[in-house]
Amino acid sequence: MSVLVIPLEGTTAAGAACPGTGLGLYTVPQIKAAVSDSASLYSSCSYGKTMQTALVADPPVRLNCSGSSNGVPWSWATCSFDDINGWANAADEALAARGVSPDASFYTVYLVPPSACGFVGLGYVGCDGSYKCRVWLSADYWATGQAYAHELGHNIYLVHAGKYNPDGWYDEYGDWSSWMGYCCNDRCPNAPQMWQLGWLTVQQYDASSLAPGQTVQVTLPSQSTSNSGLRIDVSGWAPGVDPIFVSYRTRAAGDLQLADDVAGRVLVHQAPIANSFDAQKTVWRAALLAGGAWAQAAAGITVRVASLGSSGAAVSICRQGGAAETAASCQAGVDWDCDGLVGAASPSCSAFLGSSAAVQPPPCSPPVKPPPPARPPPRLPSPKPPPPRPRPAPVQKPSPPPPKPPAPKPPPSRPRPAPAARPLPPARPSPPSPEAALIRRG
Ligand SMILES: [Zn+2]
Repeated sequence: MSVLVIPLEGTTAAGAACPGTGLGLYTVPQIKAAVSDSASLYSSCSYGKTMQTALVADPPVRLNCSGSSNGVPWSWATCSFDDINGWANAADEALAARGVSPDASFYTVYLVPPSACGFVGLGYVGCDGSYKCRVWLSADYWATGQAYAHELGHNIYLVHAGKYNPDGWYDEYGDWSSWMGYCCNDRCPNAPQMWQLGWLTVQQYDASSLAPGQTVQVTLPSQSTSNSGLRIDVSGWAPGVDPIFVSYRTRAAGDLQLADDVAGRVLVHQAPIANSFDAQKTVWRAALLAGGAWAQAAAGITVRVASLGSSGAAVSICRQGGAAETAASCQAGVDWDCDGLVGAASPSCSAFLGSSAAVQPPPCSPPVKPPPPARPPPRLPSPKPPPPRPRPAPVQKPSPPPPKPPAPKPPPSRPRPAPAARPLPPARPSPPSPEAALIRRG
């Protein structure tokens, strides 16, 4: 992915910062280092599938204190979408005057100087190139590689990685296993997002490969060093329950700065993602150590971790046949209720393991089968994604995406709304709400 990074400054003719803004806080070499960090993360996390090349405008682009773009005024005094869009259009024109075509890259990151903007970062969610793929980063994050990775992640159809807190509130940035969660320690996207991007190959289980009462044993290499994960599609017997993703994460490569509650654990996520252009939230469900288990009651699935080691995580996946063991399951040594115990080891079997149990047929559970062949991530038949859905922009009301310059004349009416721009939240500790945090930045 080709990226053009444009540091912006709003200055008077004398070179002073315009009212409402200030000069940049970071040097071009510092910006280049952060851009390089982002490129390294993409390369590492994608196992070399997505290489980021970037050009940083040097020196920064200086704009006037106000202006208009296609008849829409902008200034540095406010931070409406018309303002950030106007800065971007004006920056493109300024760079074109330097001989740098706005079309030289597919993605453009505009580095916003100290301003009225309360966001940390903004990025269109999904961008197929039918309009300019843009990202904005606020002044404090010009030198933070994870901020670039996060916002550009929105451009390639990722949305936030969230988690339900114990009180049931969904914190849309609360998944610390993904760079689409809270900023800023280095880590890759989570397993469902990696699969969405085509970076992760999963062993997949579904109704045809995981029968009621069946337990399968799987060794999961670390996702941090191997493009391996596991996906359980439960739609065949539990419609409406999102697919379950299981992955093992260790502090290595792009995951070098994994948080303590993620590193060296087996992670469980759920997400309804159907294809590479399906911008869907992901939900963190569990981070398991050896001996840990997580159960999804509606689908009757239990994920259990037997051991963790350098060669991977030994994990079992059990699909419940019924709420309790039966004489037949006890006799056959099948974990029908997915409590992790079978036969005589299971207390619930004590009543069944008498002489009468021996005549019962085994339950309708096939023997453990080897895992099915790995499936590549889904891809739409056409590389062209669906048009982005209009969503309310978190900053101000949406404005039109920029027409391709030069515009023959100002549009008589506003074209379609801009695709949603999503904010990047600040670093931990998590705020009471992302919106409040954006305002509180810092
Ligand atoms: Zn975001």
